[in-house]
Amino acid sequence: MHKIIVVGGVIGAYGAKFLVENNEVTLIEEHKNEEQPVHCAGLISKSGFERLKINPDKFILNKVRGAKFFSQNISFEIRTNETKAYVINRKMFDNELLNSAIDSGVKFINERAIDIQVGENFTVRTKKNEFKAKNLVMATGANYKLHRKLNLMVPKFLNALQYEIFAECESDMVELHLTKDFFAWLIPVRGYTRVGIAGYGNVKEKLDTFIKNLKQHRKVGEILARQAGLIPIYAPKFKTEYKFSDLNLRLAGDAAAQVKATTGGGVVMGCLAARHLADKNYENGWRKEIGNELYLHLMLRKFLNRKSIRYDDMLLLANKHKHIFYSADMDIASKLLKNLTAEFVRHPLMIIDIFKILF
Ligand SMILES: Cc1cc2nc3c(=O)[nH]c(=O)nc-3n(C[C@H](O)[C@H](O)[C@H](O)COP(=O)(O)OP(=O)(O)OC[C@H]3O[C@@H](n4cnc5c(N)ncnc54)[C@H](O)[C@@H]3O)c2cc1C
Repeated sequence: MHKIIVVGGVIGAYGAKFLVENNEVTLIEEHKNEEQPVHCAGLISKSGFERLKINPDKFILNKVRGAKFFSQNISFEIRTNETKAYVINRKMFDNELLNSAIDSGVKFINERAIDIQVGENFTVRTKKNEFKAKNLVMATGANYKLHRKLNLMVPKFLNALQYEIFAECESDMVELHLTKDFFAWLIPVRGYTRVGIAGYGNVKEKLDTFIKNLKQHRKVGEILARQAGLIPIYAPKFKTEYKFSDLNLRLAGDAAAQVKATTGGGVVMGCLAARHLADKNYENGWRKEIGNELYLHLMLRKFLNRKSIRYDDMLLLANKHKHIFYSADMDIASKLLKNLTAEFVRHPLMIIDIFKILF
């Protein structure tokens, strides 16, 4: 039985539940319930919930059965007859995972960790208290202040901004509008839409321009809420486990950049990784389960971000080989690549179209 301190939110709470089976776990998180700022579109795959063994019923706001992709002149859609993803209430989801961790025996401290010292133990200081342990998990999200303080690696990241707004769109289809560095999204909720963008530089300007263009052919109403955040970019060499003599430090979730580089989604991947916090060798454990997938997402992102790429031609090609997308999974990039490889064997001349997209 070890003493373990976990600093962080949803991924920390999910991981803490596994850690507390054999350890004494204290979870330090500064926000709870209403005060918690949301920076998430709340789109989580149905298969992801199944993989995490979480029943989503309590926090589902909407169900989605497909996606529409837009380039400048072309659109392409994958429409199915079944629910592929849920749009969730993130506050309720985070709270549920936190309560579940507390029910499992995790001690919860609703405070901010303002400092961490490395000595005989890790000493985590909050405004009112001090906590000591030889094992520390940082699941502090895309806030890298404590990383910098401890001289840990810090990932590269994209800026993201989202408005909750009334904007016309189909109630059970998400939209992805491809941009040069990432994409803009429309996610239908109930009676309103989450419209956001991620990218480099000034995302406010980019989102406002996107919405201005949207207004030319759709009804768009008042902004109800604004949510901003960072999206860390996965890097295979990013270190997620550190030793300081006999002290052990592990990073999980956005703090470890365990995020799909294709979409910026980090909830499912972060939780899958956090299950390995209880492993003897954390770094090997989580990489074995999702390392390859995160790497493939990164390769796809690099492909999509190539300067010479022509999205119009890419979507035309996707339309021609549409069926390979129906059995794909938004979290498991290898499934799509497997389908693509099989299609390539059937239609080797696809290579000409791929060259057309790239050059
Ligand atoms: C605009 C936007 C849209 C997104 N949409 C999606 C989506 O649709 N689907 C998806 O899967 N992912 C999405 N993501 C990514 C997703 O939000 C993150 O991957 C996920 O929240 C990571 O969880 P986490 O626990 O690592 O970090 P967080 O959810 O950020 O939680 C970290 C928590 O730790 C707390 N904390 C930090 N430092 C301290 C400290 N010093 N002391 C105490 N507490 C501290 C923070 O207050 C926070 O509550 C989106 C991200 C952005 C920015």
